[in-house]
Amino acid sequence: MTEQPKTARKTIKAVAQMKSLMAEHFHSLDRAVKEGTPKVAWCTSVGPAELLHAMGFRVYFPENHAALIGATRMATDFIPVANSIGYSPDICSYLTADVGAYLSHRTPLTKSYGLETIPKADVLVYNTNQCRDVQDWFSFYAREWNVPLVGLHTHRGVKAVQEWHVADLVAQMKAMIPTLEEISGVKFDIDRLRETVRLSLECTKLWRQVLEFGATKPAPLTFFDATIHMAPAVVLRGLPEAIDYYKLLITELAERVNQGVAAVEGERHRLYWDGMPIWGKLKDLSEQFSALRTNVVASTYCNSWIFDAFDPATPFESMARAYIELFIVRDESYKEAYMNEWIRDFSVDGIIFHDAKTCPNNSNNRYGLPQRMAARLGIPSLVINGDLNDLRCYSEEQARTNIEAFIEQLDERG
Ligand code: SF4
Repeated sequence: MTEQPKTARKTIKAVAQMKSLMAEHFHSLDRAVKEGTPKVAWCTSVGPAELLHAMGFRVYFPENHAALIGATRMATDFIPVANSIGYSPDICSYLTADVGAYLSHRTPLTKSYGLETIPKADVLVYNTNQCRDVQDWFSFYAREWNVPLVGLHTHRGVKAVQEWHVADLVAQMKAMIPTLEEISGVKFDIDRLRETVRLSLECTKLWRQVLEFGATKPAPLTFFDATIHMAPAVVLRGLPEAIDYYKLLITELAERVNQGVAAVEGERHRLYWDGMPIWGKLKDLSEQFSALRTNVVASTYCNSWIFDAFDPATPFESMARAYIELFIVRDESYKEAYMNEWIRDFSVDGIIFHDAKTCPNNSNNRYGLPQRMAARLGIPSLVINGDLNDLRCYSEEQARTNIEAFIEQLDERG
């Protein structure tokens, strides 16, 4: 393996504003728990956050916390603790890292934001659109704290979204309302829901705009930037703060484009990343790709927070559509067509598939997709074996060597 010089990508200045937004997000949750108001709802990443905001809850996303555990490389300490009470090392390492952290009475929120603990939930609200693990994850806390657990059960492997898919999910959301009213003490108000959906729509449009900067040559941002700057789209969608933030970020990215500033100096190759980030290795991977003058310009993962369907005129139906139209919910033919489009529009010349050991739901290389895409598009791909949080499943040396050989292969293709 040739030793590559370390090259950092260019820092985005707006990150300072994002850090203070995130700090306020966690502090507001902490205040809510201490004061007993507003009530705190835990929500899965594409759960009904719009409904929860509209009903006056402060909303917390444990997946964001679990990713932070991974990024701070604390996961390897915590996963075995969850394993020891019967949660298998083969299931979602967000779940095992988060539950293990709870059982260890530790959280990265202490170092990052000075908080002693995660915010205790008044209600836990999941959506199985992404996987079954989220239901089991939230069930742990429901038993632990004896708090209500409610959820949406979404169809999976969907080819085309049908009216009956939407009607089913709308009925499930409406059925949650009496429970949520009782816990929050806030009466459901359709106009408040419309306003939240409007804010989510605006946020999602701006987030799409951010990601579409990746199509510019050279690209002003990378996948590694996007995994950081997506945080407001994940935890603050439905709130005005997220909108203000993305306007600021877009101004900075537009300036970069005007001045021809590349996130990766001397960009030679443009890749698409499919699958979960490897949270504990983002910096190392980013440095390796930068040194190889290769930019990962687009990804399935960061696109998962683009929800074109939101419409304040039909809040329930459009929320249902947004939650089902999601990539992870869809069948292989949809996934292939979706990726083809982004790869073409972003002038991509190679694809990385991350096969995450503990997340089959976000590992799209397992049913022949790389081979079908190579045949259709003539674009090579590389599969990296690893995991989102469990670094025991990732061989750094093997990944580095394979990436290097893959880029050489792209060089030879010209
Ligand atoms: S989709 Fe994957 S990473 Fe996300 S909660 Fe489910 S199993 Fe975990």
